[in-house]
Amino acid sequence: MTALLEVTGLRKTYGPTVAVDGVSFTLPPGGALGLVGESGSGKTTTARMLVGLERPDAGSISVLGRPLAPAVRGRAARLARAKAVQMVYQDPYLSLDARLTVGATLDGVLKLHGHRDAAARAGRVRELLAQVGLGEREAACRPRQLSGGQRQRAAIARALAVEPAVLVLDEAVSALDVSVQAQVLNLLTDIRREAGIGLVFVSHDLAVVRYVCDEALVLWRGRPVEHRPTAELLAEPEHPYTRLLLASVPHPGWDPGEIAARRRELSAADRVSGARP
Ligand code: ADP
Ligand code: MG
Repeated sequence: MTALLEVTGLRKTYGPTVAVDGVSFTLPPGGALGLVGESGSGKTTTARMLVGLERPDAGSISVLGRPLAPAVRGRAARLARAKAVQMVYQDPYLSLDARLTVGATLDGVLKLHGHRDAAARAGRVRELLAQVGLGEREAACRPRQLSGGQRQRAAIARALAVEPAVLVLDEAVSALDVSVQAQVLNLLTDIRREAGIGLVFVSHDLAVVRYVCDEALVLWRGRPVEHRPTAELLAEPEHPYTRLLLASVPHPGWDPGEIAARRRELSAADRVSGARP
């Protein structure tokens, strides 16, 4: 069984900042991996390398057994890259055209990817919208005429229109309120089960990752510190940083002062180990 995504030894630096260092994982068909870690831990940089928006300093990315070219030139290569991995951002306005109706945006993506027949495209647009729980009314709306949840569904439909092997979602539900968040999470679970699309789900929120992902990879200062089945990782976190992340979620009897102290301790230990200044 060919892996959807195979990532080995990804590294990215920005000047003296090591944003990502040594990230490796394999995503089986229909698999879902959570990338977790606090702000600045290298999640977005990893996601951007997966979709080709950043060029890794080292490491490799293969989709369906084929290495992703580090640089893409020309229309055919760009379309092939888009078909491999699609990104859904926290801000759906980044992937939707504010001037176009949602239906027109989807139609445009299908056209770009070689669907020539207008009637067939219209049918496919309806299918895509139905898949994300939107209908005719939403198809005729521009992004700002939709609710936040509807807008994010439209952005997901846009990504699905490309028929990617893998969907990378960078904090894609973080800005949604909890009930809408639940709907979008259900949608993602359906997409995975029904279409076999792999998910790389970036989130700082462990509760959300638990719901969507079989496995979670915890990043700390750009480095993977723990990568295990999500349920196990949450039940018995091994790395002190994973334990700290879990403890950082407010709960009854929670002591933010203690969390801050543990964080300082962890940073000090990291400095002593000499791994990173
Ligand atoms: P996360 O998504 O987990 O919050 P990021 O991947 O955005 O983390 O950032 C990881 C580190 O890389 C941070 O220290 C951030 O400041 C740095 N970084 C990210 N993008 C850039 C960039 N374009 N230029 C310089 N530094 C960057
Ligand atoms: Mg980020």
